[in-house]
Amino acid sequence: MTDHAHGSRRALPEPLAGADGPADGWDAHVGRDVDGTPLAAPGDLPVAEFTRHAHELVEWIGRYLAEPERYPVVARTAPGAIRDALPSSPPRTAEPLETILADVERVIVPGLTHWNHPGFHAYFSNTASIPGILGELLTSALNQNAMLWKTSPAATELEQVAMDWLRQLLGLGRGWFGMITDTASISTFLAIAAAREARPELDIRGRGLAGRADLPVLRVYCSSHAHSSVDKAVMALGLGHENCVHIDVDEQFRMRPDALAAAIAADVARGMLPIAVVATVGTTSVAAIDPVPEIAEIARAAGAWLHVDAAYGGAAAVVPELAGILDGVDEADSVVMNPHKWLFVPMDCSALWVKHPDVLKRAFALVPEYLVTREQDAVVNYMDYGVQLGRRFRALKLWMVMRAYGADGLAARVRQQIALTRAFADWVRAEPHWEVIAPVHLSLACIRHAPPGLDAAATDAHNERIMHAINAGGEAFLSHNRTNGQLVLRFAIGNIRTDERHVRRAWDLLRECAARDLA
Ligand SMILES: *Cc1c(COP(=O)(O)O)cnc(C)c1O
Repeated sequence: MTDHAHGSRRALPEPLAGADGPADGWDAHVGRDVDGTPLAAPGDLPVAEFTRHAHELVEWIGRYLAEPERYPVVARTAPGAIRDALPSSPPRTAEPLETILADVERVIVPGLTHWNHPGFHAYFSNTASIPGILGELLTSALNQNAMLWKTSPAATELEQVAMDWLRQLLGLGRGWFGMITDTASISTFLAIAAAREARPELDIRGRGLAGRADLPVLRVYCSSHAHSSVDKAVMALGLGHENCVHIDVDEQFRMRPDALAAAIAADVARGMLPIAVVATVGTTSVAAIDPVPEIAEIARAAGAWLHVDAAYGGAAAVVPELAGILDGVDEADSVVMNPHKWLFVPMDCSALWVKHPDVLKRAFALVPEYLVTREQDAVVNYMDYGVQLGRRFRALKLWMVMRAYGADGLAARVRQQIALTRAFADWVRAEPHWEVIAPVHLSLACIRHAPPGLDAAATDAHNERIMHAINAGGEAFLSHNRTNGQLVLRFAIGNIRTDERHVRRAWDLLRECAARDLA
């Protein structure tokens, strides 16, 4: 790709003063365009432009939300098509917003996979809900940076309040320190970094891991169905991927506490040091729920930090009769749950709670002089608890979503999605040659079509073709996984606009595509 705007190499600018005459006045400092004319004072666009286009955009978004099925759920775009439709370098001169927004609709929107489509059943479907969208709009306009209390007292304190509200909605006990990150992957990374720092005698913060004969091998345990973000955190923290130990699961895909205890005992006998155990509430593969109370006991006996990954499943605890899925989590040292996944908050918003903020702070706090503030010992400066300095004001949209639906409204929506998923699983089970692969506790059903006469490989290929046929149709989007070596179709419900009609339609499509594939 050529880069017209910048050329390949550019000489350093001439010193402005004296470049072409005496530096008399503002023009000389502002500089001149290539043709020698003084640059106009830049500034933002007129506010009237904002208001006019914002009104139009809001109308557009309103139509988009009112007709979420207007576009095919999966983008029908060939790789590279969007890049090819756009200029390879930025414009030299200003373009009108009309043109830019028209290009959004013409070029960008057709290249979107629509997570807001009610037929989105792949991965874990999510929602940008109306209060959340309004919160994001305000967030970008207010442009807060919640790095220090002082740089945004309201963002910092609303983050504390919103995280405490969310803790209560999930039925967690008191004594948790809450913070918002971008993703569960980063939340889990921070938690395992804290676990590493929970052993101050190792002085990894100061001395690192490399080249040290005095350090034991540090081990982290999770189930063989845990999310890859646990592996990535272990890799990124320099512990070595082979030290992320995947523990066997039982017939319901839950981590086996006996296998965990045995693995830890064997490692300790070899001189290794267990530093963390990660339990999952709602695994990505089948939404299995690890037995957290038993795992907590084993982790505590081993002196290891217990982190609970409830990125997806934790949201179900807003339903009072399902609060039990977080049993034992109050015994953990940290827990992550993603409001941007199953709690209707737009991307991105991940909630991390830790029991020992002092340890997280020990792992990350480093305050250069220019960030010292007078009140720093009396307030929370969120930059002290993670890698990033600058932090988005994510609490606003979370707070607005919790207020706009209320505890009862959130519970009603999550409850309805679980009921729809269970109904779907019942239809699948009742149909000859269709199978539901794992217990349906939450809003994910893993299914497959296993018609007689097909061997294992042919059954996998058949299911894969069913999925591709549905996804090409534009009405529904499913994803797949391998469970016990078999290809299974993942059907998740998490979009606020999905109702029974969409689920019935997806089930019709599944059977139609299966029949057509065998014909
Ligand atoms: C989705 C998911 C993650 C990763 O979430 P990100 O916020 O995308 O990093 C981690 N763990 C589980 C169990 C998940 O479902």
